[in-house]
Amino acid sequence: MPELPEVETIVRDLARSLPGSTIARVEVLKPDLIGGDAAAFVRGLTSSRIRGVTRRAKNIVFDLGAHRLVVNLGMTGRLLMSGDAGEQPTHIGVTFRLASERTLVYHDVRRFGCLEYMTAGEWEDRETAFGPEPLSDDFTAAELYDLSRGSRVAVKTWLMDQRRVVGVGNIYASESLHRARVDPRRAANSLSRGDANAVHRAIRETLLEAIEFRGTTLLDYRDASGAPGGFSARLRVYDRAGEPCAVCGTAIERIVQGGRSTFFCPVCQS
Ligand SMILES: [Zn+2]
Repeated sequence: MPELPEVETIVRDLARSLPGSTIARVEVLKPDLIGGDAAAFVRGLTSSRIRGVTRRAKNIVFDLGAHRLVVNLGMTGRLLMSGDAGEQPTHIGVTFRLASERTLVYHDVRRFGCLEYMTAGEWEDRETAFGPEPLSDDFTAAELYDLSRGSRVAVKTWLMDQRRVVGVGNIYASESLHRARVDPRRAANSLSRGDANAVHRAIRETLLEAIEFRGTTLLDYRDASGAPGGFSARLRVYDRAGEPCAVCGTAIERIVQGGRSTFFCPVCQS
């Protein structure tokens, strides 16, 4: 499932090539991917000019002036420029033909993604429910510490709650806690101020490094040109059960928390 670095990588690519483009024609091949009425989606987007592409949480937001196209990739969604990525045509959900003759393709094998057309005001209302962006100044160690006081939930599960901070999913929660040397099973309210500082710093460092390496590909994620991310080889614990910890050499352990796999070093994170 794409997390913040993967979505950010796609957004940065699209933000370089799409602004100024006009959507000439929209074809919806899989209407179940559209949030709301597919005909209204097509009607609204046709002839719209793309002014910018940004990210909020794990949403890709196309600024169309008074309206927004909001794309959530779900588990396996991809946004690809040109559609020449050599994929099965059965998995193409929506195509956007641009006036410049290029095509933006939304492709999704499992179809948990969602594309929505809405007014700028509707999007603003939606946005207010999201937690702070982890790479913004709104996300501080002091606030992380204060919020954690009220919760006995395991810190790894707690971090993945999008109301605390957005975009930190299973991969980067495990990775950040290893960097911060915090046991993922600890209750959120057991963190000291020093622990909260370390977790805050580790989340930002991990996400920034993952963006620098264009995200993590385990199975499905591809960037806007169809290429896998380069961060997979730099994962310290995620999906590395039984392999030696890069810091101390102890075998990485896997446990299940909240139905999701957690990977950690039992020595560094004790
Ligand atoms: Zn270790």
